Amino acid sequence: MPESVRDRVHIAGPRLTVSNGLLVVVFALVAAYTAGLLLNTGGPSLLVDVWLGELTQWVPAVVFWLAVVRTRFARADVLFATLAVTFNAAADTYYVTTMDAAGELPFPSPADIGYLMFYPLMLAALIALLRRQMRGLAWSVLLDSAVGALGSAAILAALLGPVLVSAVNEPEVLATAVAVAYPVFDLLLVAAIAGIAASPGLTVGPRWAFLVGGLVVFAAADIVYALLEVSGTYIVGLPLDAAWALGLALMAVWVDAAGRPRRGPVVASRRQSSAVSVPAVAVVAGLGVLILGTQVAQPLAAVILASLTVSLAAIPLVFRQRLLRRQARTDDLTGLPNRRALYTDAPVQLSFSSTTARQQHGALLLLDLDRFKEVNDSLGHDVGDQLLVQVSARLRAALPRQATLARLGGDEFAVLVTESGEAEATALAFALREALSRPFLLTGLAVETSASIGIALFPEQGHNLSTLMRRADMAMYKAKSSRVGAHVFTTEDDSHGEARLRTLQELRLALSDDQLLVYYQPKVSLDTGAVTGVEALVRWQHPDRGLLLPEDFLDLVEESGLIHDLTRIVLTKALDQAVRWEADGHALTIAVNMSASSLVNVELPDKIVRMIADRGLPASALMLEITEDYLMSDRERARAVLTRLRAAGIQIAVDDFGTGYSSLSYLRDLPIDELKLDRSFVLPMNDDARAASLVASTIDLAHSLGLRMVAEGVETGSAYDELARYGCDHAQGFFMSQPIPAADLNLWLAARRTTEPDASRP
Ligand code: C2E
Ligand code: MG
Ligand code: MG
Repeated sequence: MPESVRDRVHIAGPRLTVSNGLLVVVFALVAAYTAGLLLNTGGPSLLVDVWLGELTQWVPAVVFWLAVVRTRFARADVLFATLAVTFNAAADTYYVTTMDAAGELPFPSPADIGYLMFYPLMLAALIALLRRQMRGLAWSVLLDSAVGALGSAAILAALLGPVLVSAVNEPEVLATAVAVAYPVFDLLLVAAIAGIAASPGLTVGPRWAFLVGGLVVFAAADIVYALLEVSGTYIVGLPLDAAWALGLALMAVWVDAAGRPRRGPVVASRRQSSAVSVPAVAVVAGLGVLILGTQVAQPLAAVILASLTVSLAAIPLVFRQRLLRRQARTDDLTGLPNRRALYTDAPVQLSFSSTTARQQHGALLLLDLDRFKEVNDSLGHDVGDQLLVQVSARLRAALPRQATLARLGGDEFAVLVTESGEAEATALAFALREALSRPFLLTGLAVETSASIGIALFPEQGHNLSTLMRRADMAMYKAKSSRVGAHVFTTEDDSHGEARLRTLQELRLALSDDQLLVYYQPKVSLDTGAVTGVEALVRWQHPDRGLLLPEDFLDLVEESGLIHDLTRIVLTKALDQAVRWEADGHALTIAVNMSASSLVNVELPDKIVRMIADRGLPASALMLEITEDYLMSDRERARAVLTRLRAAGIQIAVDDFGTGYSSLSYLRDLPIDELKLDRSFVLPMNDDARAASLVASTIDLAHSLGLRMVAEGVETGSAYDELARYGCDHAQGFFMSQPIPAADLNLWLAARRTTEPDASRP
């Protein structure tokens, strides 16, 4: 997990709350009760059996009810479990207050109602807890659960045989029913627990193991009790009584976590499959019961359950081949065909059509999400997974039926279409991009994504899938780096992949070997002509290729995750330069560009503030330029990060304003000082009246929101004058100066001071 995300998840530190404290009391009571039971060997004692015994029932019940209130009665599992525990406690209270001196009560009694209610309510709680997860599970997992459940039920039925026999022999019908109900309910409970244990795919909330452990202890106590009761050796006050108390205490640990903020990562805890497979154990148990049945008479229920276990377990064997084949061909997350499926099916689709003896025409589209890594790093893999699932659904819906859609891994998808030429394939690519253009709703967050698509045509550009894949991949890289969205392979793209890999290695070296330079471009006040600040722009002094511009390497820096290093280097160089200018008496604000992904790091504001303070600079020496896309991707986080920076006195500018997809509402909401109108609006201003009026009204908009407006790309004197007339605040562009090294900028500043008595024009 990246630092930034870890940071956000660990907001809740450990603290002792009322019910945490109660848990300590619960376990202290269990210990005292156990000690009391062990020491007191006489008849039932008031202190141990009544007072301590009742407290071990009711204090956990209070923990349960606190959880119900904390979850505002909204969690069915918590509510059912709480009712179960409460009924059980009430039954116990009735029992100890009405029993005779020997600890006996007529059977059945009202206490049995309460005791019996525990089981259906607990089962309901388990069902409520698992219901959401059960829906998405493959039937093979459910089958495993069923085998586990049946196997354990068979064992239990065999074990409880004498109890069942004695229950059936009760003289009264009601007594028989009640007596039978106990072992049957126990059977169901244990079966349910074994079922859960048998399906490692189930995602169960925090501390679920305590619930399951508690229930196991509780049911085990029940079974031992039933066997003792049948043999007539049970009396109130045996150490066995403490087992129920322990079971309840463990369940209380589970419920205590309900409705509290999680301390761990947000990622759902998927259970590891255990070394011993529960279904396998269940089968062995089932077989054991059947074999034993041939020697010693077994209860009918046990034999039936054991037979069912063994036959259910056989089902997957029968379908195993098909199942395995399907699993091997399917992507787990999205349910789409995977890379292997694509490679096995493609030859058929790419082959000659036997009826027409003509080769099919078609295309392979390779689709890669843009900036998916950012989503994963900043919002967590869970959200990343959700995004992939939703993306695959939208792609599927946007494709013609005969097209094959496969997920190749990560954020890469492939589409194979037949009967399609270049025009159709390109149209399809844009339709797919269109399908992804609406924001995705992920856990209440609107996330925007886009995709770059590379296209390779067959048979023209390859006869087999491997060649097509390679070429579509190169085309995809081209589409991504040139931001065109979709690109059909050309032979020119062929050398690209190799060059890219080389560049990546060189780039790592560039960062460590100090090959990056920072150039500065001045920003001029249109009102006074004064130079108010500079923008820091990164350059790469490549040992062979000369001075490279950001467009030559920035995408690769982003993709390879080196952007944090680059940002740090540029910030350091820019602030060091600010110190020098400050010493020379130039109070220049340096603007540094921040990529969206570097701002994802929530520690960044503090780091930046420290960097400024360490150099003794005023906070006004730094401005950060951010993009609209960053603001739109996660507005709450953007607000938090920007507010923190702004509070420290650092100014914020929105770069390339007008080019991103954004809603104007963020301008009102977020702490921003300045808008930088993109040069694509400024450049055509001179020849295009509509462009000019767009610029003029955008300047008014900025002013009405209390923001400064900076025009980028001011290349001519007439554009400069026009912008001044519109009331634009600052201008930046080649007309004043290209981005240049700091030393050159000093000369430029000096020349400007001497040649410029009238400071209103450069
Ligand atoms: P930007 O932040 O919009 O920077 C302005 C770009 O416009 C610069 O390109 C500059 O050379 C160019 N420009 C300035 N005046 C004119 C003009 O009059 N006409 C025209 N046609 N262009 C002009 P450059 O230096 O190639 O930077 C391109 C982009 O790369 C920047 O756009 C910025 O988004 C990004 N970038 C540059 N340095 C950094 C950096 O240190 N970190 C990050 N994350 N991004 C950077
Ligand atoms: Mg900029
Ligand atoms: Mg810009």
